[in-house]
Amino acid sequence: MPDNAVAAETTITGGIGADRGYWDGLAAGEFRLPRCPDCGTWRWPAHFRCGHCGGWEQEWVAVEPVGTVYTWTRSWYAFDRTKERVEDVPYVVVLAEIPGAGNARVLGVLKGSEDGLRVGAPVTGSIDPPSGRSKGYPAVRWALGGAS
Ligand SMILES: [Zn+2]
Repeated sequence: MPDNAVAAETTITGGIGADRGYWDGLAAGEFRLPRCPDCGTWRWPAHFRCGHCGGWEQEWVAVEPVGTVYTWTRSWYAFDRTKERVEDVPYVVVLAEIPGAGNARVLGVLKGSEDGLRVGAPVTGSIDPPSGRSKGYPAVRWALGGAS
């Protein structure tokens, strides 16, 4: 296990354990999502057990971070758990649907221009390194536009 994964474990406050591979992947610069090795069902948000076949194993698969806007919202206020982003208010959070992972939907703050922001718009993800704004762990950010 790389040292930065250990660091991620000590700073993740919202993880449930089953999503550990996601954070480890981001720390390693990869966008990984969990899939059941028994039946192939993508499992996101991560769960310890497959809801389709009941299997307990999961594999973390590196996925191209490309998809479409499933929905989005604009935050106008820095709530207690997002005080680190007070200087970014207002900002947009996108729930991106990832066809390469069974249409798993993954949250991320929008990066760059809002031109063309709408449900169904193509987005491409990038991984921001740990920062104070993300409570010290890496984060996926979505930008409008398809993969180039
Ligand atoms: Zn399964």
